[in-house]
Amino acid sequence: MTGCHISIVVPCYNEDEVIDTFHATLVSVLEATRQTFEVCYVDDGSSDTTRRRLCSLAGADRRVRYTSFSRNFGKEAAILAGLRMSRGDAVVIMDADLQHPPSLIPRMLQLRQHGYDQVVARRDRAGDGVVRSLLSSAYYRAMGHGIDVEIIDGEGDFRLLSRLAVEAVLAMPETNRFSKGIFAWIGFDTASFNYHNVSRVAGRSKWGGRRLLNYGIDGLISFNNRPLRLAVYVGLTLCFTAAVYALWTITNVALHGVKVPGYTTLLTVAVALGGIQITTLGIVGEYVGRIYYETKCRPPYIVRETSDTPPPAAPAQP
Ligand code: UDP
Ligand code: MG
Repeated sequence: MTGCHISIVVPCYNEDEVIDTFHATLVSVLEATRQTFEVCYVDDGSSDTTRRRLCSLAGADRRVRYTSFSRNFGKEAAILAGLRMSRGDAVVIMDADLQHPPSLIPRMLQLRQHGYDQVVARRDRAGDGVVRSLLSSAYYRAMGHGIDVEIIDGEGDFRLLSRLAVEAVLAMPETNRFSKGIFAWIGFDTASFNYHNVSRVAGRSKWGGRRLLNYGIDGLISFNNRPLRLAVYVGLTLCFTAAVYALWTITNVALHGVKVPGYTTLLTVAVALGGIQITTLGIVGEYVGRIYYETKCRPPYIVRETSDTPPPAAPAQP
């Protein structure tokens, strides 16, 4: 067993309105568990005072550590950095906005004691907009058919991982990370329980429509090659249909002679084929793009400072 029992990993991006409240709530819950703990904050290149606040939290309490990125690298990179920092025997990943209630941590620890390597808190969709809820459930249904690992609606990053599970996650070297898929892929005995969704206490969500859409596409593509397979099936089906249609036309011409009408059919087929070809190219392009980024082997984030290293000197005034 390592030095401390529980590590809490918290990605933070522009959370200065909420971070102090979050920290106070978290620490009171953790102290009540009577177990040793550390809190690993990751400042994901915030442009507000989040970094300074984390720095002073770390200065005031040795159980608090932080890492700060040189710019915004995204929540996935922040989770990875937090997991790398963590030294606990059990690690809980949670958001800084109190949407992941710290009061659920004791329950997670209890399930961990029953031997589960992953304990997932699954939220319901209360408080989400109607459109977002509908789109989300349609997305998860599509994911259920489309990808090789099982991802369940409402199960996100709020979970406890045993040290064994953390090491399994860290052993996955990809730069473009899709944590939900990674957590499902590593396996292990997993327990889950539901909790009621709560709204952010302050600040705003960083997930606008476009970011969510990109995340959704990442999810579909990161864990399988079924879209490519689907493109092959669509192509083959179209070839077969075209062959049948050609046969039917030739027979028709042989029986009844040439008729000029057919402009609409021709145009429809041309447009449909064009659309399918471009979509297929796009799908192939998505995979090629991912290969391109992975072959560069760039680090998933760059650290600007950590609580273990002194902050760099401020740039000299011109
Ligand atoms: N977050 C991050 N980097 C980002 C976006 C978000 O570290 O680029 C953090 C954010 O500070 C919060 C968590 O990820 O702790 C969840 O973000 P948010 O509340 O915006 O997402 P939502 O709850 O709306 O899905
Ligand atoms: Mg949130």
